[in-house]
Amino acid sequence: MSPGFEIAFRAGGAAAVFACMMLWESFAPRRHLTVGRRPRWPGNLGILAIDIVAVRLLVPTAAVGVALIATARGWGLFPLMGLLGWAAIVAGVVALDLVIYVQHVIFHHVPALWRLHRMHHADLDLDVTTGVRFHPLEILLSLAIKMAAVVTLGVPALAVLIFEVLLNATSMFNHSNVALPPRLEPIARWIVVTPQMHQVHHSIERSETDSNFGFNLPWWDRLFGTYREKPAAGEQAMTIGLPIFRDVAESRIVRLLTQPFRSAH
Ligand SMILES: [Zn+2]
Ligand SMILES: [Zn+2]
Repeated sequence: MSPGFEIAFRAGGAAAVFACMMLWESFAPRRHLTVGRRPRWPGNLGILAIDIVAVRLLVPTAAVGVALIATARGWGLFPLMGLLGWAAIVAGVVALDLVIYVQHVIFHHVPALWRLHRMHHADLDLDVTTGVRFHPLEILLSLAIKMAAVVTLGVPALAVLIFEVLLNATSMFNHSNVALPPRLEPIARWIVVTPQMHQVHHSIERSETDSNFGFNLPWWDRLFGTYREKPAAGEQAMTIGLPIFRDVAESRIVRLLTQPFRSAH
């Protein structure tokens, strides 16, 4: 696959999912937004632009490039175990999902890492743009962790590409202000993390913030006891965000970038 095609495939796919979710939440919003789009979108989308530039400038080869090198040299656990072809691709996607689940739990429990990650949680509303709002330092750190996992396991490049495209899409989907039909949602959350399931993770209540860590696959939360069906205050009444950074001015891009280094306002 040529690098040009790969970039076009990623960008085109992400833009299409973003547009679909944006339209869906405009026509059928799940919750009434408290501060709305206007104060938040410039900051959230500005962060996305900074993240894209930071990754392209600092780690241009990224995880797919590392996977190509690792596979060509036969590095990693998968080749050692004889996992090849499609088995390695499926195992690679599932294993990377487990890695980011564990990473997410660690980012909540190690204070220095929580400072980076809490900027994602400080969003006062949940919508498609929350799904791309991650501090650039968190993005670079997760990329380094993903690259280490790819080399250690010997994940094929195609699995890395599938995983990254999937993660972008599901992150935008499960942060969107949309609701799956009530009959379908309880079934869907056995297969994929749904917006209603991830909403619990954005509760202001710490015990709820520390639940439903999954991004793609919902199984890890159920397996490791971090699953919560719904927020105590109810889906409509619950407060989104954190006890700190509740000022709308905290949605501005400079404030978002400096939040990890500030204790309050
Ligand atoms: Zn989190
Ligand atoms: Zn989230």
